[in-house]
Amino acid sequence: MRELQELTRKNIWALTPYSCARDEFKGRAASIFLDANENPYNTPLNRYPDPLQEELKAKLAAVKGVRPERIFLGNGSDEAIDLVYRVFCEPRQDNVVAISPTYGMYGVCADVNDVEYRSVKLRPDFSLDADALLAATDAHTKIIWLCSPNNPTGNAFERRQIERVLTEFGGIVVVDEAYSDFNDLRPFRADLDRFPNLIVLNTFSKLWASAAIRLGMAFASEEIIALFNKVKYPYNVNLLTQQQAMRMLDEIPRLNQWRATILNERRNLLPAIAELPVCTVVYPTDANFFLARMTDADGIYHYLVDRGIVVRNRSRVELCGNCLRITIGTPQENNALLGALRQYRP
Ligand code: PMP
Repeated sequence: MRELQELTRKNIWALTPYSCARDEFKGRAASIFLDANENPYNTPLNRYPDPLQEELKAKLAAVKGVRPERIFLGNGSDEAIDLVYRVFCEPRQDNVVAISPTYGMYGVCADVNDVEYRSVKLRPDFSLDADALLAATDAHTKIIWLCSPNNPTGNAFERRQIERVLTEFGGIVVVDEAYSDFNDLRPFRADLDRFPNLIVLNTFSKLWASAAIRLGMAFASEEIIALFNKVKYPYNVNLLTQQQAMRMLDEIPRLNQWRATILNERRNLLPAIAELPVCTVVYPTDANFFLARMTDADGIYHYLVDRGIVVRNRSRVELCGNCLRITIGTPQENNALLGALRQYRP
């Protein structure tokens, strides 16, 4: 890995972050808070929340097996994605390399931050071409984006290929594991000691069933997390979200039940969709969704919408012609989808 200072934007490396009232006061004994211009009434919502979410991180650390100093929490993983650009990429000078197709926000945040986005096509079977990815980098490449399991293709990449990218690239490699709870592969957050250039993204929006509270996680070295903390908004995760996340962390047995049900449904639904005359290929998946190539994705998409069923039409995405991306729902929802598709007449 190149030196972290060399990878970081100069203005960010030199930045003196905003120091908020709750940063300055670290004691435990105080009961009268006259430091932050809050209204003294309407407890507890009158108070600014913990800017570094320490209680939540301590609890999360035990669940994820990552030390609190190596955890960043943000307003969805989308905040972490944007921060990666703001911390590392000099607008109009640096570039990033990503796979295609993949999650759209890597490209949107590149555009917002005026950073060149280079995309490298996956192979037709959606496997990762590590050589092509590395060949697309140059001296100005700061970031490689990998999403595994990948959205919208559903497959996780071979660990060996991802490790090659981590070893051979001198910049930062982001491995977005938003969907890693839906497979038994070893998560990359367990390998932070081996790869100082690794940032792993997780989210409360998928298995944790909490997309509404907007809570995303980044796991990385203490040094990288310290840079994120310097640049983020002071109170980027609100109190209600922190409290609700603490409650969800007590719900692991429920989570495990949801996972078992979703994986069981996935096992049943994929072959049933593959058998339909309107479906030509169902791609293997390691996530809570799958990609299906259809005879007429547009027609089927609108047919389903007319019946109150919404799937994601990915047919205009590279390599995904005529493909629908379908999330695994409840058994009832999946049956409704199958029933509707069985009745489809072109
Ligand atoms: N990464 C991937 C791969 C995703 O598919 C999504 C959401 N669809 C996100 C990140 C965003 O997650 P969050 O809700 O935490 O912002």
